Amino acid sequence: MENLIQKIDENLQAKRKRKDRLSHYPSQMSIKTKNGIEGKCNLALWRNFKGIEKSNPIQPYTIWKFEMGNKVHEFIAENLKEVGYKIESETPFKTQIEGLKYPISGRSDNIIHLPDKKIGVEVKSRYGKGFRNIKFEGLRPSDLLQIFCYLNCGVADEYILLIINFDSGYREQYLIERKNGFLIANKELIEDISWQGIINRLKELEDYLQKNEMPPKDFEKKDWHCKYCEYKNLCWAVKSVEKPKN
Ligand code: SF4
Repeated sequence: MENLIQKIDENLQAKRKRKDRLSHYPSQMSIKTKNGIEGKCNLALWRNFKGIEKSNPIQPYTIWKFEMGNKVHEFIAENLKEVGYKIESETPFKTQIEGLKYPISGRSDNIIHLPDKKIGVEVKSRYGKGFRNIKFEGLRPSDLLQIFCYLNCGVADEYILLIINFDSGYREQYLIERKNGFLIANKELIEDISWQGIINRLKELEDYLQKNEMPPKDFEKKDWHCKYCEYKNLCWAVKSVEKPKN
């Protein structure tokens, strides 16, 4: 029998091979809040920019989950088109922010074009606990930071965050807007998230890159960020050696 799973796994891994990094990505924004850092660890990003070999690369089964989530974007766009919306999908953008060396670039899932405004539709798929946690802990800061980044880069005027539970098919939607440099989720001001705060973190990262000096760890070993980090063993194994790829 042909080993199709292995063939697909290898193909997925080959497609994720590292390219030289020349941008900041919306999904990797972070901010310093009164409770600590929310979003991506600057040390993980620093290693990624420097081309440091990953000690704990993402496993194929996780890539399958990501890819299945991506397919949902197409399904959403198709259905929105069928009910009459004018949709643009996977819209690329690149924005240079004053004071930063690297631009912010990425792709927005779907954008609805109305006569008076553009509404971005960001789709997130969740499994079991990940979905239930929204009820108890609220929306994920990383999702909010990503959408806030799109808004500040002028990708759309407002966003609808659509969250789908892959276990049950249950869905929820949230309106995300920005006002005076702050984020508003379902009409509620999220004081912890400001555009200036996000830019400050990017500047901090760029300073460490420029000095060729590693930033400090943003999280503790038991934190979920470290648990799923592709550089976990470089931070927390007893002995580790960092090897730049080039
Ligand atoms: S293991 Fe934790 S502290 Fe180290 S780079 Fe990853 S997220 Fe940052």
